[in-house]
Amino acid sequence: MGERISEALHKKLTKRLSFYQDIGIGFFYRDRIPQQSTLASAETTISPAPSLPGVALPKPFQKQQPIKPAGTAPPALPRRDALPVPASASLFEAMNKVADDSLLKIRADLGDCTRCKLHRGRTTLVFGDGNPKAELVFVGEGPGRDEDEQGLPFVGRAGKLLTQMIEAMGLQRKDVYICNVVKCRPPENRTPEKEEVDTCSPFLLRQIDAIAPKVIVCLGSVAAQTLLETNRGISHFRGEWLEFRGRKLMATYHPAYLLRNPGAKGEVWKDLQKVMAVLGLQGRKGSQTGKSS
Ligand code: SF4
Repeated sequence: MGERISEALHKKLTKRLSFYQDIGIGFFYRDRIPQQSTLASAETTISPAPSLPGVALPKPFQKQQPIKPAGTAPPALPRRDALPVPASASLFEAMNKVADDSLLKIRADLGDCTRCKLHRGRTTLVFGDGNPKAELVFVGEGPGRDEDEQGLPFVGRAGKLLTQMIEAMGLQRKDVYICNVVKCRPPENRTPEKEEVDTCSPFLLRQIDAIAPKVIVCLGSVAAQTLLETNRGISHFRGEWLEFRGRKLMATYHPAYLLRNPGAKGEVWKDLQKVMAVLGLQGRKGSQTGKSS
């Protein structure tokens, strides 16, 4: 017989496990031991989640593969053992793909979300917008004022620039899917805090899995660092093909950065041309082969 736990702890655990179940987590990794050599070679022990009455857990998950460069001869991504290692196992590593998930179900699971403090300042939760079967998904940081008011991602000045870039690729916004790491506007458009990202990003992961795009484009550091689980600056891997859960991932600058630094538009356009090549968009009517304006 196992050790008995208090009723208060039992309730707390039940509530926490119900939340993890909502977002598709059934098992948990034990924390890494810092002095163990590398992420790539370390054996990670999987501890089954404790069994609680009334909490039916989803099927066990497959251990996620470490990030690795995709393509035939890609520039090397810094090895994960060279990247800063989180102190404990991440939600992403603990998440399994939710069977038969859909954007509608994910939106329903989010509900009138109060899981992190960003809900206090929001007008509208900005879930995402576009083609639920898109081959191309853009991931930004979080809603700004215009997005918060309209409930749609990338509709302000930066959004207009993103729309121009999408159209320059020979696509329309309705062809792609656009979403953010956090779904509620951070006060004064500040960068989302780690706890907010950790709380909200599992829903982003489910969105990506449900859409199953061919290519993910991360717009800016927060999106890239969240999906790649690194603290390294985006300039270290911007423009390189990376892999995220079996999909091609390209990190590039955020359109808001381009508004402040128009000289960087050319770099972003080079990145998007690589995306166009993978999606077979080059030469299509509407696509521009030159530098974006
Ligand atoms: S940012 Fe995400 S986790 Fe936080 S309240 Fe909004 S929807 Fe919920």
